[in-house]
Amino acid sequence: MPDTTGIRAKRQKPGEGFKDFVIREESDKGYPGFFNLIGIESPGLTASLAIAEFVKKLLA
Ligand SMILES: Cc1cc2nc3c(=O)[nH]c(=O)nc-3n(C[C@H](O)[C@H](O)[C@H](O)COP(=O)(O)OP(=O)(O)OC[C@H]3O[C@@H](n4cnc5c(N)ncnc54)[C@H](O)[C@@H]3O)c2cc1C
Repeated sequence: MPDTTGIRAKRQKPGEGFKDFVIREESDKGYPGFFNLIGIESPGLTASLAIAEFVKKLLA
């Protein structure tokens, strides 16, 4: 039976509580203009346009 495939990003180890995804600009680590968008699991696809708008605001 056809099924979906892919890697579901997880920030927490098995047994740990849920950790939400991270969106941050890394100036304080010495990388101005570098963005990390980490551990974006569902609903990351649905939220992708809103995430893009959020990052655009961080760039302004
Ligand atoms: C089975 C499944 C069903 C899902 N269903 C939904 C849904 O119904 N609705 C919803 O909103 N979300 C859903 N999601 C979640 C959604 O797919 C993710 O939130 C979204 O794809 C995350 O986007 P991303 O760009 O952060 O990561 P990805 O889409 O995973 O993109 C990461 C990219 O980085 C590349 N990459 C990885 N490692 C490296 C490396 N070391 N060097 C260079 N490139 C690298 C990969 O090849 C890939 O192209 C689903 C996910 C899965 C797996």
